[in-house]
Amino acid sequence: FRHRYTERNALSLAQFKQDAIYMPGANTRSVLHALPFPMVIARGQATTVWSVDGHSYIDFLSEYSAGLYGHSCERIWTAVNSAMKKGWNLGGKNEYEGKLAQMLVERFGNSMDMIRFCNSGTEANLMAIGTAIAYTGKQKILCFLGGYHGSSISFPEASPCYTMNPKYEFVLAPYNDILATDAVVEALPPNSLAAIIVEGMQGAGGCIPGRPDFMQHLQKLASEHGALFILDEVMTSRLAYGGLQSTLGIKPDITTLGKWPGGGFSFGAFGGRHAVMEMLDPSAKKLVHSGTFNNNTISMAGGIEGCNIFDREAVKSLNDLGDTLRQRIADVLKQRLGHRNTSDRNEQANGAVASASKIYISGVGSLMNVTFAGANKDILQAIFYHYMLEQGLYVATRGYVALNLETKVEHLDIFVRAIEKFVSDYQDL
Ligand code: PMP
Repeated sequence: FRHRYTERNALSLAQFKQDAIYMPGANTRSVLHALPFPMVIARGQATTVWSVDGHSYIDFLSEYSAGLYGHSCERIWTAVNSAMKKGWNLGGKNEYEGKLAQMLVERFGNSMDMIRFCNSGTEANLMAIGTAIAYTGKQKILCFLGGYHGSSISFPEASPCYTMNPKYEFVLAPYNDILATDAVVEALPPNSLAAIIVEGMQGAGGCIPGRPDFMQHLQKLASEHGALFILDEVMTSRLAYGGLQSTLGIKPDITTLGKWPGGGFSFGAFGGRHAVMEMLDPSAKKLVHSGTFNNNTISMAGGIEGCNIFDREAVKSLNDLGDTLRQRIADVLKQRLGHRNTSDRNEQANGAVASASKIYISGVGSLMNVTFAGANKDILQAIFYHYMLEQGLYVATRGYVALNLETKVEHLDIFVRAIEKFVSDYQDL
């Protein structure tokens, strides 16, 4: 694969070498750092991307879910373009931010009375945690192994990497494990828990769905300890019209958002109950949250049109498409590789055994992950990435797949055929 990839992507390699002079690893997106070097993508239309080397791929990565609308979406382009004609980022409150705030508060109305904008999901989570510490006057933040809340708030289960997490008092518990979580909380000094922050489905952790009873328990635990329950919906807010929370039977104190509600541009937001959010009123002078680009014209105008596009019907049909794809992949794994077993990491994942290795498909609705386990997991995961590229399919190096509004059934057919071919070529590994 390495040899063929290098030959097929000579222009990407040349750009990689040039950029490496000015950027460590030639790349500012660590998550896109494929080996031996990342492909350079030059153009995108609907669900196709073209590399600088002239190859086209069906895009199953969809910018890690932020590319919800497909590439170069006409409606978003028109909305942003007409806003930009009046000038952008004019150094004042603008006419778009309130409209987008209203749309999102109405949409996530289960738990959100008010909202504030920032520029990324990472920032939204940092602001939510800072708000919880200020609101409760306490310090400890309960997080979960495998959780990802942004580059500087991440807890990989097994990683030799140093994480740049700020020196908050994080405590860690295993995801989806009520008893072990209770034990961690009981061991804390009395009256020290400020917040619990969790994803309703661990995205970067491998698209592992949170169990509703676990999520409900966390909400109860937070309220018993006078802590705030923060739900990170940066990735999952697309999974139901009112966010994944609306399917889990929970009502977080703060919800964080990112990715698609900014129309595919830089975006983050956090919102919650009146009592909490009121602290951030600039005239109250209690807790300051600021940012030059918090209300930037492109994200606000693009986001309004994005929310119009991603209506109830669109949410449902995209999730149905995702459920269909996951089911079809699970069926292939079952037929080709033997019995269906439940993953030890995720009861809802459909796994299959390929001799010493296991391949799993897990996820919710339009988001999923093809994950390998067992002795050869790392090499199989890398092979899978390159194998899919050679079939003309662009997925994440870690096997993450996000559908977008331009994904059609015929794209799923191609994807399923590629998986079939992969498992028959590699069933002995
Ligand atoms: N939280 C979750 C659950 C995410 O998946 C991500 C991004 N993948 C983030 C936070 C961080 O968002 P951003 O990359 O916009 O900072």
